[in-house]
Amino acid sequence: MTGLSNAAKRDIETVLHPYTNLDTFRSTGPLIIERGEGIHVFDSEGKEYIEGMAGLWCTSLGYSEAELIDAATEQMRQLPFGHVFGGRSHERAAELAEKLKAIAPHDASKVLFCGSGSEANDQQIKLLWYYNNAKGRPEKKKIISRLQGYHGVTIASGSLTGLPANHMDFDLPIERIFHTGSPHYYRQGEVGESEEEFSTRRAQELEELILREGPETIAGFIAEPIMGAGGVVMPPQGYFEKIQAVLDKYDIYFISDEVICGFARTGNMFGAETFGMKPDSISVAKALSSAYVPIGAVTIGEDMYQAMIDESKKIGTFGHGFTYTAHPVAAAVACKTLEIYEKRDILSHVRAVAPTFEKRVMGFADHPLVGNARAKGLIGAIELVADKGTKKSFDKAAAIGAVAMGAAQKHGLIVRALAGDIIAFCPPLIIKEDEIGEMFDRMARALDDVEAHVR
Ligand code: PLP
Repeated sequence: MTGLSNAAKRDIETVLHPYTNLDTFRSTGPLIIERGEGIHVFDSEGKEYIEGMAGLWCTSLGYSEAELIDAATEQMRQLPFGHVFGGRSHERAAELAEKLKAIAPHDASKVLFCGSGSEANDQQIKLLWYYNNAKGRPEKKKIISRLQGYHGVTIASGSLTGLPANHMDFDLPIERIFHTGSPHYYRQGEVGESEEEFSTRRAQELEELILREGPETIAGFIAEPIMGAGGVVMPPQGYFEKIQAVLDKYDIYFISDEVICGFARTGNMFGAETFGMKPDSISVAKALSSAYVPIGAVTIGEDMYQAMIDESKKIGTFGHGFTYTAHPVAAAVACKTLEIYEKRDILSHVRAVAPTFEKRVMGFADHPLVGNARAKGLIGAIELVADKGTKKSFDKAAAIGAVAMGAAQKHGLIVRALAGDIIAFCPPLIIKEDEIGEMFDRMARALDDVEAHVR
């Protein structure tokens, strides 16, 4: 711990850090971020960074949005806490539910709020089980997600997640959760197989899994439109169309996990719209409040709502809810966030700057270290490889992704290294054209440093 600041030492001795190697962290310590402004954050030494990941894919309106701060302050003054249990409510709850229903990419009837993306997906599972019991099909409970997918870390949502680190030694996944193949064409497409053929193969595998388990036992399928934490994986050509056909054939409820793609990230309000998905429900969080306060939500259709009413007739109460379900401060900030998206036409802004963003990400494909580059809207990634021709990865021990992340940091850019030496980009949606240029100029300098490091 020598050479570390007092703040870093205090942190090491007190804070348990998620997604961190707890052993090496004891000597490296934390990067302490002190303040933010627009798309920039500043560390405790005063160094400026472009926040190229919008925090954790979430601060869509950047770091100094006064209208959100005012919305929170006003709500705290008026009603700092209110709940929606047992027939109580407050105005912000319905206001936000109305706004969400109006833009949801399916025929949404009601909204169930919660505090995070993990809770949203946890709720999805509970609602689906409850619904199928109400419908008199107690055997229809299994849920299929995908390898490499990310849906959270609670016991149930962590089970949906298809990444080894989220299961290993946590005794996950739980029963009734199954994983089908990842849509990562660059890594998993076979030699000579087209994208379209790969999508067909993935849809066939899904169908085989359904048939193996018994279609009458499969309740739902969950997917992120673009896989985020699993590697910013784009759906290959024809993918969702083919998957959708299988789901329709076996009457399987389709959940679009919009926790990252939600709210303009991919150039449409929801990723489901960008990729022609026809979900029965969506999970949202993160950009719902520009991450200024924790809030998540799930939308449901009228059929599920009616079945839940039948359950209430039978059981008496819908036995679910968090103290912070529809928290008024979170709901007020979320209402303001959605209002800002609309009045500043964030969607048009994303569409206007996306070509520059996509071009800059795709431009890295020519770099000797980059095996694959991919981007859509304001989300993208590059995959670092030891050999572009064979797609050979670097030795795991070399931790090239982490080296690249560190180099970017040195040049004043925060990016995220995902498993497989994938560097993710997901800046605040308010990023301007010239800032995109500066962001990727910094990344280019970082990549040159990495090249010097490995050659
Ligand atoms: N779903 C997706 C697609 C996510 O990316 C995340 C978080 O990154 C989650 C769910 C979990 O959200 P949270 O971290 O708010 O629990």
